[in-house]
Amino acid sequence: MLLGSGRKTTKMEGEENPFFCYWCGGQVQIPKYAVSMACPHCGKEIDLRPYEIETPYFRPLATLGEVHIAARGVYSGPTLHAGRLVVDGVLDAEFTCRELVIEKFGQVLRKGKAGWVHVPAGSKVRLDVPLDVRFATVSGHFELPALNVLKRIMVMQGGILQTALTAGALEIERGAFFEGGIIANCS
Ligand SMILES: [Zn+2]
Repeated sequence: MLLGSGRKTTKMEGEENPFFCYWCGGQVQIPKYAVSMACPHCGKEIDLRPYEIETPYFRPLATLGEVHIAARGVYSGPTLHAGRLVVDGVLDAEFTCRELVIEKFGQVLRKGKAGWVHVPAGSKVRLDVPLDVRFATVSGHFELPALNVLKRIMVMQGGILQTALTAGALEIERGAFFEGGIIANCS
């Protein structure tokens, strides 16, 4: 199916994509410049530091900072919680994150939940697992068995999406391509 709305929208401004405590799931505000904070809901310590993963890594990791899995990096679990998660290498663990960016050679091998998933232009991403997200922006080629978008997905110009899609709202730019079934989620 080829759809083109022709409407030029590049940003989902005003869309809320909050941080959540990885212990209790409560929504939190992240203070600037802090490296850790206490959750106002459960009182547990939340790590806010960034991590760079450049080699095989087997320890549990939880932060609301950025985790970058570099090209030679392999994260093998058991579980990963991140604020922003940028995958250039291999993510082989179930995960939750606020924002997931799957770069050109990134591989996501297990299912996960993200506040927002981005597939940038030039990325060709094929997953064998489903994803649950609140928002999605697809500018590259994104193929996966199922994509559940609670709020809104945008397929940008030049983007290709192949999946069984459940979405609150779908926007497809002119020059984008969508193939698969759609289940509208009007809740
Ligand atoms: Zn908490």
